[in-house]
Amino acid sequence: MTIADNTDRVMSRIRQAAESANRATDQVTLLAVSKGQPVQAIEEAYRAGCRQFGENYLQDALRKIAKLSHLSDIQWHFIGPLQSNKTRKAAENFDWVHSIDRLKVAARLNAHRPPGLKPLNVCLQVNIDAEESKSGAMPEQLLDLAMGVSDLPRLKLRGLMTIPRPRDTDAEQRQPFARVCSLFNQLRREHPKLSPMDTLSMGMSRDLEAAILEGSTLVRVGTDIFGPRITTPVN
Ligand SMILES: *Cc1c(COP(=O)(O)O)cnc(C)c1O
Repeated sequence: MTIADNTDRVMSRIRQAAESANRATDQVTLLAVSKGQPVQAIEEAYRAGCRQFGENYLQDALRKIAKLSHLSDIQWHFIGPLQSNKTRKAAENFDWVHSIDRLKVAARLNAHRPPGLKPLNVCLQVNIDAEESKSGAMPEQLLDLAMGVSDLPRLKLRGLMTIPRPRDTDAEQRQPFARVCSLFNQLRREHPKLSPMDTLSMGMSRDLEAAILEGSTLVRVGTDIFGPRITTPVN
């Protein structure tokens, strides 16, 4: 299977899940997660139609972004944990950051976003299963964080991101996604300032159907597009 075949298969899974949920296919964006993949694999996915790419490791991502700068319609998404000392490079080189879980990091991204670029699109990461080992804000911290981020002029708050713990069945897998979707709708309904939020970043290779059934607008897919990751770089 080539990357182009894999991309087609993922696109048809997205279409089918959207149909089952009575949603339009174009309401769900495919983000190709290229962490641990070489530049040639990204070029192949680009030729297959992908324009949104996700990376987790900043140094490695910066190298790829520089090499692919001629593909000027790519949008780069930072989806990994972001330490405060990395915010300048992230703000200078990415279009999106999905992993905001503290106001301190958001404020630094805001301060470092270059004036010549559009505001940085951000999602707040929710730790929906309250796992000690995972990043993300707890649901009860979300409102304060959202209000704080929405005051930062160089950031554009687009929505929520989550990575739930894997469950054994599809029905069980839908539950954490449903809870994040309801937090998202509640924030938008009760807090007019937050109503422009339009993005629910949820679902990966193994659980994209469950996520789309519960309202995901962006699925982050690595393995099922690129195959196993070749390298696991450290920052
Ligand atoms: C690696 C990663 C993905 C993609 O995972 P796959 O199982 O390879 O599809 C999605 N989201 C985040 C945050 C990741 O780190």
